[in-house]
Amino acid sequence: MKPSIILNDTTLRDGEQAAGIAFQIPEKISIAALLDAIGVPEIEVGIPAMGAVETEAIAAILSLGLRAQLLGWNRAVPGDILASIRCGLKRVHISVPVSDIQIQVKFQGDHSRLLKQLRQSMEMALEQGLWVSVGGEDASRATLAQVIELAQKAQRWGAQRFRYCDTVGILDPFSTYDQISHLVQAIDIPVEMHTHDDLGMATANALAGVRAGATSVNTTVNGLGERAGNAPLEEVVMALQQILGINTGIDTHRLRELSQQVARATGTPLPPWKAIVGDNAFAHESGIHAAGVLRDPRTYEPFPPEVVGSQRRLVLGKHSGRHLLLQVLQEHGIPLEQISPQQLETLLEQVRQHVTQSKRPIPATELARWAQHTLQHIL
Ligand SMILES: [Zn+2]
Repeated sequence: MKPSIILNDTTLRDGEQAAGIAFQIPEKISIAALLDAIGVPEIEVGIPAMGAVETEAIAAILSLGLRAQLLGWNRAVPGDILASIRCGLKRVHISVPVSDIQIQVKFQGDHSRLLKQLRQSMEMALEQGLWVSVGGEDASRATLAQVIELAQKAQRWGAQRFRYCDTVGILDPFSTYDQISHLVQAIDIPVEMHTHDDLGMATANALAGVRAGATSVNTTVNGLGERAGNAPLEEVVMALQQILGINTGIDTHRLRELSQQVARATGTPLPPWKAIVGDNAFAHESGIHAAGVLRDPRTYEPFPPEVVGSQRRLVLGKHSGRHLLLQVLQEHGIPLEQISPQQLETLLEQVRQHVTQSKRPIPATELARWAQHTLQHIL
């Protein structure tokens, strides 16, 4: 079945715009290849107008012959479109601001010049037979009328899709739903969501946009991107699947592998509590949770970790109880009948002290040696 929502990943463009992030060409190539391998249908590969290094990377990705459609990001400037054409890209995204504040700063408030440049740039791309997407930058701080006016013009001039950008991440799911519902009724071309996480709403707003009728979502792996980042690919894929029952056609089993590859390329480890792909996303420590998961993992997991290529971890820590401790001891061949309730209490207390002092949980594997040693002293 053909996926009803198109994912367009911009890790290599908006993702790389994150402060302090710069991918090397081989890293870009392997990220693009893995995005393609897991079934991401569109990849925004970069900004050709940035110069030789960027176009070299884009050319290298183009030469891979990926199944994914590759897009270049452009301003409404002839030089940008020319650079995209020279790269050999068949799809271009052209971005123009919609909000008064951005039109003032970028076009000195000259709205008609903005429209003229957009039209010229679009014509240039369309004459070359390119597929054109138009983006309304900072749409969430413009009036709905301004957004619709731009989207309708873009459609009339030949755009195949309109990107709605919550550029500074100020919407919530309710306001997003409201805006996108009106926008999709006002135009015939598909609407794409581009949401930022400044207030922690990027994924929620992308989903709200889909509920309202958007059919494409711009994502980045691990949510990498400007300031607080973008809607994370892994979150959008799993939320669409789990909440809305939408199959995006992505092989979710490789999401953690992709996440780790991008994290390595950024040189920054992910926080352990990162949704879907963090080390703790399927870790259980507290007594009540671990006891529940040992009986039936569904007690405290929304879906099995294997679905996203992760693993369940039972972690002994400050909040662990006797149940998990016994389980771990048993798994490591320590005969439980030799341990008195008093000894178990002592061991549990030692685990808690150790964790409090070291600020680290004790992975079950590490515990074997540690527990043996401790028990030898107790027994
Ligand atoms: Zn952005």
